[in-house]
Amino acid sequence: MTGSEKNNLPQDTFLIGLGVSPGVAIGAAFLFNRLRQTVIEKSVPPSRTPREVERFHAALAESRAQLEDVKQRICSKELREHLYIIDTHLLILEDEMLIKGTLDLIRGENLNAEGALKRVLGQFREFFDTIEDEYLRERRSDIDTVGERLMRNLLGERQRSLSEVGRQAVVVAHQLSPADTMQMDKSKVIGFVTDVGGRTSHTAILARSLDIPAVVGLENISGIVQSGTPMIIDGTSGTVVLNPSEETFREYLKKKQAFEYLERELLAYRDLPAETLDGFCMTLRGNVELDQEVPLVLSNGASGVGLFRTEFLFLNRTQPPTEEEQFEVYRAMAEKLAPESVTIRTLDVGGDKFVPEINLADEANPALGLRAVRFSLKERRLFREQLRAILRASAYGKIRIMFPMISGVNEIRTCKQMLDEAKDELRHEGQSFDADIPAGIMIETPSAALIADLLAREVDFFSIGTNDLIQYCLAVDRGNEHVAYLYEPLHPAILRALKMICDAGHNAGISVSMCGEMAAEPLYSLILLGIGFRELSMNAPYVPRVKRIIRQVRRSDGERILAEVLQLSTGQEVSRYIEEEMTRRFPDIFGQPVI
Ligand code: PEP
Ligand code: MG
Repeated sequence: MTGSEKNNLPQDTFLIGLGVSPGVAIGAAFLFNRLRQTVIEKSVPPSRTPREVERFHAALAESRAQLEDVKQRICSKELREHLYIIDTHLLILEDEMLIKGTLDLIRGENLNAEGALKRVLGQFREFFDTIEDEYLRERRSDIDTVGERLMRNLLGERQRSLSEVGRQAVVVAHQLSPADTMQMDKSKVIGFVTDVGGRTSHTAILARSLDIPAVVGLENISGIVQSGTPMIIDGTSGTVVLNPSEETFREYLKKKQAFEYLERELLAYRDLPAETLDGFCMTLRGNVELDQEVPLVLSNGASGVGLFRTEFLFLNRTQPPTEEEQFEVYRAMAEKLAPESVTIRTLDVGGDKFVPEINLADEANPALGLRAVRFSLKERRLFREQLRAILRASAYGKIRIMFPMISGVNEIRTCKQMLDEAKDELRHEGQSFDADIPAGIMIETPSAALIADLLAREVDFFSIGTNDLIQYCLAVDRGNEHVAYLYEPLHPAILRALKMICDAGHNAGISVSMCGEMAAEPLYSLILLGIGFRELSMNAPYVPRVKRIIRQVRRSDGERILAEVLQLSTGQEVSRYIEEEMTRRFPDIFGQPVI
């Protein structure tokens, strides 16, 4: 299995990134996209001008042909409602200002084609930025998309779509949006790797729910890999091997088999309760992004859904889903999960959850901006529709409603007021719903953690979103590979915050769950028991792993260990302590890597 002749990479080129979804994948690379090359504007001798004009025309023709091709494919998939976007893009390719503007610069200023196009696109951008009308201003993104396509064609880069993926491919990309990830066909994509991203970026979370091994934060893998390069990825350790030698190939094949064997073994825990040796019962629920994941929740023995991230309903479409569409999804989910419950989280867009179809303003700090419940409280029509859809579905099964990123009491009061208004409306319309639907909040901002006792008086339950809580408490962007080393779930500040929130909730008599990625890490299960959690929610494939640990420990040991680690001063010290403790208890799981 050598490909070094083809891509000039030495055999056994090892790269280390962040393993964000476990498992081993062995296959050939499918290069999806690279970081866009910097376009250099330069003068060309007048004799070369006709050649640049010709290149520009060729790029225009190629772009047109590609769009026509996409259009054909969309037709055949009966996604006709999306056709108008392609038509808009085709129209832009005929735009007088774009074509004449670029040709004038090539001919008049002897610029290279890329340089001329770059300048014209810049002028377009400036022009659109001055437009007051929001709808027209939005059209800028269409020009950017078309401009990017033209530029890639000029630079000779091939445009790819994830639908082109052949069999057994490892997708290699600079970046994948959640929308790209959603389009992956699991029967073809066996893994993916990206230059950017962190453990809790949404693309990583999606990889885990799809159960596809993934490594992110590799910095420049998209710059060195060609499509077809043989590669191995180990999503557990974060290792990537390009052009593996025969020996490395055999070693990872063994790892892959051992991993898959363990996965099958773990399913034996599926139907057993998550009960500790001293008789304490935990409830383990599943996190889902797509309603299609419900079978995965059931087959992994989760007790219902503890977090349904509804923003994924809003992806890959031109209009937000209607109340009716949402109602159908929520209702089907509640029915399929009965008698267990589903906790539906209202829309959480913004931050790294960019939904192109929802026009979010350009913000200097999106993670601190109009995100999650802040967005819902601004776009009240959308919010109201979602609340109505959830309420209506609550007549068909057990539903809990959850508001994300609450940072103060006023916010939750407003949300509950809107919920009451939606209930009144439905009552007037004679529609049925669960009048006592539990309403809870995500605790994921430092302010919410600090006033957890005050918030606990207002709601029926808490669910701790550690992905954001860690990001905001430690001031570490959850998706930035350069500061990933600071993203420490066992940082003393986080442990103290978790204890505080848990105690505040329990003192007020409400339930406290954790639905961030920290809940899914078996290494932390004992300490979470010690903190006092009675409920955890995680991507379904992790439920058996966590259950296995819980069934082999005592809660009282967790409390003792928590008391010990709360004396330590750094996240590394806590981490070392926990790793040693867990390796001593479970040498087969946390000891040597499985080969
Ligand atoms: C979290 O922040 O931990 C969480 C569960 O929400 P999300 O990852 O969707 O932001
Ligand atoms: Mg969050």
